[in-house]
Amino acid sequence: MDIKGLIRIIPDFPEKGISFKDITTLLKDGKAVKYVIDEFCEKAKGLDVDIVIGPEARGFIFGTAVAYSLGCGFVPARKPGKLPFDTINAEYVLEYGKNSLEIHSDSISSGQNILIVDDLLATGGTLKTTAKLVEKLKGNVVGIFTLIELDDLKGRDQLQGYNVESLIKYP
Ligand code: AMP
Repeated sequence: MDIKGLIRIIPDFPEKGISFKDITTLLKDGKAVKYVIDEFCEKAKGLDVDIVIGPEARGFIFGTAVAYSLGCGFVPARKPGKLPFDTINAEYVLEYGKNSLEIHSDSISSGQNILIVDDLLATGGTLKTTAKLVEKLKGNVVGIFTLIELDDLKGRDQLQGYNVESLIKYP
């Protein structure tokens, strides 16, 4: 299925020089959503995933659907100040801007197999930080899956040693 053709490219958003990959045009297509989630689940076969973790906000969309399909739990990695219980925190740098992510300190148990799912791999900062949060709680990162990968930003280099999979690549 041509899912790449369903991604809308918005030049200079949210700032000049950024070629924004808009996934809302894919999300409104039911067959495409099913295809993407099925592809992720196919790649997750044999990984014995206990928990899927997705970074705010677009990681929630794909991550929860993958968790449902695999029959496992979902953990949201959120921007600071959003989670109500005790949290652990790690900082990251975006393609545009800087932020940090938090997860609840009781969200992952030692030894659990964790699959990280997000919409897009750019610099890799978000996903590396998510992996760090998992590892702080002694979870095993068994995969890092994204719909889109921006090759030129070399985010994959930041994630060496992890099982990184993406469904669509752009230069
Ligand atoms: P990074 O930490 O640089 O890998 O950035 C990853 C996150 O930023 C992804 O979860 C995307 O939601 C968002 N993002 C970064 N660059 C883009 C882009 N060019 N188009 C759409 N979303 C982006």
